[in-house]
Amino acid sequence: MKEDLKVYNSILELIGDTPLIKLNRITENLEGDFYAKVEAFNPGHSTKDRIAQYIIEEAERKGILKPGDTIIETTSGNTGFSVAMVSVIKGYDCILAVSSKSSKDKIDMLRTMGAKVYVCPANVSADDPRSYYQVAKRLHQEIKGSVYINQYFNELNIDAHYKTTGPEIWKQTEGKVTHLVACSGTGGTISGTARYLKEQNPDVKVIGIDAYGSVLKKYHETKELDPNEIYPYRIEGLGKNLIPTATDFDIIDKFVKVTDSESAHTARYIARTEGLFVGYTSGAAFQGVKQLAEEGEFTENSKVVIIFPDHGSRYMSKIYSDDWMQEQGFSDTENLVGAEPIEF
Ligand code: PMP
Repeated sequence: MKEDLKVYNSILELIGDTPLIKLNRITENLEGDFYAKVEAFNPGHSTKDRIAQYIIEEAERKGILKPGDTIIETTSGNTGFSVAMVSVIKGYDCILAVSSKSSKDKIDMLRTMGAKVYVCPANVSADDPRSYYQVAKRLHQEIKGSVYINQYFNELNIDAHYKTTGPEIWKQTEGKVTHLVACSGTGGTISGTARYLKEQNPDVKVIGIDAYGSVLKKYHETKELDPNEIYPYRIEGLGKNLIPTATDFDIIDKFVKVTDSESAHTARYIARTEGLFVGYTSGAAFQGVKQLAEEGEFTENSKVVIIFPDHGSRYMSKIYSDDWMQEQGFSDTENLVGAEPIEF
């Protein structure tokens, strides 16, 4: 039994301090040591608990929020769940504008947590009045006393990870971390964590994971938003069709793009090899690690920390459904690096 077993006043006290778990089997053919920061251990099962709590408590500290006020957010699901969870405990109303790309399970979960959910079309531009950004903005203007979390354009998103995820990783690796690999959606996780780690050791290499169909990698390289980079993709929560100000591009050394299919297969492979039932972007993050290893990024001295952002239970009707995988044409394993063939 642990010495520090205790009783908590609410689930909010369990946010953060997530475990760092060594990956032993999936990394067999790779040089270096690899550790997953498993964010599914947060009470809302994702890394987004950290920003929901931090941003709402900052608003309280500044006297912006009073009991009974409304909190509004745009979200692919995880931030919504975390904002809804924090709102329940703190007594706020929660309104969420979500993309139609989000899984039904995620939307049902948000409603279960008491949130009012607006489902908005995924494949319209950010300035279209039907987009979830515009819907959230309009509701924020209409509802008096509301706070708009605005995770893509809120610097506090970076600060939340600077104050929590970064210090935790530094402590857990006893300052020996050499690489940080993290998916980039809003960019808050990678930017805040990297900012802290690079302050401790500027040599820590920071690698962002992006999707084919997203502008982030090209923007990082050219400082221009190339509309030709934008097309639909299946991974939820990573990559973007605009440039979020919650991403500090200067602190990221490089981006790696991963495919929908390989990321899905890799997530399934993580479950079978490491017993870790994680979400789609965790598969994407490890797929990126495999590609980096092939490029010779790591040596035997590398200590690589990979953020696994959320839990697999949120993807039962997607990557963990054989029917869905087949519908997407993801049963082809020809180009998979290191994965076993999957029987359908
Ligand atoms: N993975 C998942 C499942 C997410 O929901 C998000 C958030 N959009 C990310 C990765 C990326 O994290 P961040 O927004 O901090 O870049």
